[in-house]
Amino acid sequence: MKQSIHILPDDIASKIAAGEVIQRPASVVKEAVENSIDAGAHHIVVTIKESGKSFIQIADDGSGMSSSDLDISFERHATSKIRTYDDLENIRTLGFRGEALASIAAVAQVEIRSRTADEDVGVHLKVEGGVKHTPEPFGMEPGTTLTVKNLFYNTPARRNFLKTNATEFKHILDTVQRAALANPELAFTFISDDDTVFSVEKSDLHTRIRELYGEELSEGLMECNEETDYLTVYGFFAKPEYSRRTRNEQFLFLNRRYIINRSINHAVYRAYEHLLIKGSYPFYVLFIDVDPSRIDVNIHPSKLEAKFDDERSVYGIVTSVVRKTLAEHDMVPSLTMSGPDETTGHTHINQNRHRSPLQMLRVNPQTGEIIENSGKGEQATTDLNLFQRDSFRSPHRRTDDAMQERPAEERTGEESGGTESGLIYQLHNKYILAQIRSGLMIIDQHVAHERVLYERALKRFTTRNPASQQLLFPETVELGHADVELVKEIQPLLNTLGFDLKTFSKNTIVIEGIPADVRPGYEHNILQKVLDEYRSNMNAQIDARDNLAKSFACKTAIKTGDRLTDEEMRDLIDQLFATEMPYVCPHGRPVVIKLSVDELDKKFGRT
Ligand code: ADP
Ligand code: MG
Repeated sequence: MKQSIHILPDDIASKIAAGEVIQRPASVVKEAVENSIDAGAHHIVVTIKESGKSFIQIADDGSGMSSSDLDISFERHATSKIRTYDDLENIRTLGFRGEALASIAAVAQVEIRSRTADEDVGVHLKVEGGVKHTPEPFGMEPGTTLTVKNLFYNTPARRNFLKTNATEFKHILDTVQRAALANPELAFTFISDDDTVFSVEKSDLHTRIRELYGEELSEGLMECNEETDYLTVYGFFAKPEYSRRTRNEQFLFLNRRYIINRSINHAVYRAYEHLLIKGSYPFYVLFIDVDPSRIDVNIHPSKLEAKFDDERSVYGIVTSVVRKTLAEHDMVPSLTMSGPDETTGHTHINQNRHRSPLQMLRVNPQTGEIIENSGKGEQATTDLNLFQRDSFRSPHRRTDDAMQERPAEERTGEESGGTESGLIYQLHNKYILAQIRSGLMIIDQHVAHERVLYERALKRFTTRNPASQQLLFPETVELGHADVELVKEIQPLLNTLGFDLKTFSKNTIVIEGIPADVRPGYEHNILQKVLDEYRSNMNAQIDARDNLAKSFACKTAIKTGDRLTDEEMRDLIDQLFATEMPYVCPHGRPVVIKLSVDELDKKFGRT
């Protein structure tokens, strides 16, 4: 039996809406503390009883409200923080939806006392189940005190839904701690059932972390601070040995707003990857500040999630900031110099590896890039020239163990990428020219990178060790029916390469992650491109792995026409000479051409 459609009475509608914002006592605390922060408070006092079930009070010394403002503050969508839709693009306050007070008042007995600095007395207003009483004058210091009693007294279902006092208390504690972490320049006091849980004065972030999480942890903190055109990242990470058993102590603040973001958590985790014992999680307090127009915080009523307009670069920046921080604190094998080699006069670089899971990591302290070198072959970039310390400027850039990866007879000085440092040049964004001892080496940048990626892909297939970068928001792509079938057929290989795919329906696929080797700027349509290439190779008698490795390498390699920095060129050369076959590309074309000084001399008639 279908009932006719009717509009819900206001009070029911507002109780439903309230449920989105106010789910538990901690939600009241969160919203009220945010209001206090937005109001410019210096000291915020949170008092609760019975884990907030019977009593919650948030008192601040912020701007306060005039009696007329107070009067409308409980209306739904009453806000002083945005006026126009455009303001939504530029949110700098924590609140903006104008829903919190209305929602709280719909489901609890609320009293608010407020006074602005301009007025001599404050106002006291009671609201119960959404019904306002008459405001009365009230003597108080400037600021606002919100008191919330008997939460969900008029929505028994919700009240019954509340968890034990211990659980609700923990939620509130988390909320107050996050606010205190995000705002070390404010003082916070948190009182529960007449006990002071913590009381902290205005200070700095390091002190705040110490006060909240203890002396011991604070000694293991590493600071980071990095500014790019797009964003600023700063905060503290704990050294791996201070890791926690749960993810609960990973704090991420976007424009000072606590958020949960899987992708960024993953970016941090990725940087720590080899440093952590299984089942442990790094403690961190990380702030990301970005132009508010480049993020969307209005995707959920609780404002806990946020969306970046360029989440891939955020991921990359965060990973490298963390890596750099770890590297600066020696959380990687250290490099020590031995004296000059008598025979060559060149300085050697010895790797002095710690006995730790770090063994496989090498980090460029300048860029924070980690050069993953898990044993033989794979990603054997081994490019110590990435370490731009002056003393490392040696013509022998490769490490001894990297040299060992290829047969001795191949390891002549110049072959092993023995370019003279400093002398490197990109010709027409296509060829890399590098001076070697015998003369000149010319490298085709695209095929060189193809060789590197091809071998890396093959390696992944044998080691079954995928490396994936997660997309914050999975991308749904329409593929032809045939391509969907192809994906199904080679999905295990695609997975091993680092694609994280879900078949969604007959012709759509959801991409949740792409291979880590895909460079920023190359992500667009990458799956489709690889599939097309794979298909066009299918008639040639090659097996699926080889085909996929080739197709992937071809489509993700640096293109002809791409400008490379000196460092990228050196990097590429070193990676190339760590491959099994640096001289031919996967399709059989030459990668490197050499021109010796002798040949040049001949051409110039110098002999
Ligand atoms: P929002 O924070 O999204 O604007 P709220 O419902 O939380 O919406 O609050 C409504 C309005 O009430 C705020 O915009 C602000 O003007 C005022 N307000 C609420 N709490 C305080 C406070 N502690 N101090 C000063 N003004 C407040
Ligand atoms: Mg608010």
